[in-house]
Amino acid sequence: PTKIGVLTSGGDSPGMNAAIRAVVRTGLHYGLEVFGIHRGYAGMVEDDIEPMNSRSVANIIQRGGTILKTARCKEFMTPEGRKIAYDNLRKHGIDGLVIIGGDGSFRGAQIFSNEYDIPCIGIPGTIDKDMAGTDFTIGFDTAVNTAVRAIDKIRDTADAHDRLFIVEVMGRDAGYIALHSGIATGAEHILIPETKTNVEEIIAGLTEKEKRRKLVNLIVVAEGDDTGGGDEVGKMVKERLPNADVRVCILGHIQRGGSPTCLDRLIASRMGYHAVECLMEGKHNVMVGIVNNRMHYLPLDNAVKAKERFNKEWLRIVKILAS
Ligand code: ADP
Repeated sequence: PTKIGVLTSGGDSPGMNAAIRAVVRTGLHYGLEVFGIHRGYAGMVEDDIEPMNSRSVANIIQRGGTILKTARCKEFMTPEGRKIAYDNLRKHGIDGLVIIGGDGSFRGAQIFSNEYDIPCIGIPGTIDKDMAGTDFTIGFDTAVNTAVRAIDKIRDTADAHDRLFIVEVMGRDAGYIALHSGIATGAEHILIPETKTNVEEIIAGLTEKEKRRKLVNLIVVAEGDDTGGGDEVGKMVKERLPNADVRVCILGHIQRGGSPTCLDRLIASRMGYHAVECLMEGKHNVMVGIVNNRMHYLPLDNAVKAKERFNKEWLRIVKILAS
């Protein structure tokens, strides 16, 4: 390619800026012209496309969010919308794309490049970490560290009042944030979508701990757990343990924002660099991933959400360490 476009699409995640910076600067290094496409595929459809230079990405590596902004775009789901998007790319002479986003964005990219001969390279940006073909996704490390810091604070106040706290973290389909942050904060129970939650077992555990006068209890719940999330778990526990002082805290969108951690900046820089390398080598329609510390190129067709990749041993560790 001679001119490439970069965009962020779907849900945002901290570290996307570091990836944009890497794509722009690696592209410029190879003498490519690099265009920033604003608001994901919406910018392609609406011709919200601007040339970028090295200074366009100055001072952003440490910033959360995405300077290109992100959006969901209905028009791109239709052949007519994608035709308009293609015509706009043609107008600018763009002949390669780097898409930073999640599995939905990659599906869109795959369909688009089957229709039009534009190579698309995906970079996994999602706080949920549940992508096939990579050990890391941009934003997970920051999100989970944000959750840990918040839960540590909740634990302080739970301890002061002998309260049972139920904390809901993000993860509609995946329990990674809940599992990692729960283990790191010493939660008694961690409820994740990948496993069936046994409420009776949790109530029995809490009752037994009450007898032993273990007063501070922390339950971390992924929003997509089959119980229905933090509020539902709170209701169930209050019903069954009327004497317990139960509070529910839903962490929400703080998990998506904030300055990316060192790890997220590193993987974003590495993936951004390799995405451009892929285009230079003539690769078509792959997602760049990192597996066992090596670059891994997964056909976009297979870049879907991955379930249950976490190590079941962790759940056993949770049980033993929370006793
Ligand atoms: P994420 O990339 O975070 O999974 P979405 O699933 O919302 O987010 O997808 C982001 C955008 O990708 C959608 O708004 C749409 O423009 C495009 N997209 C998703 N699925 C398709 C599809 N099947 N066909 C065309 N475009 C799609």
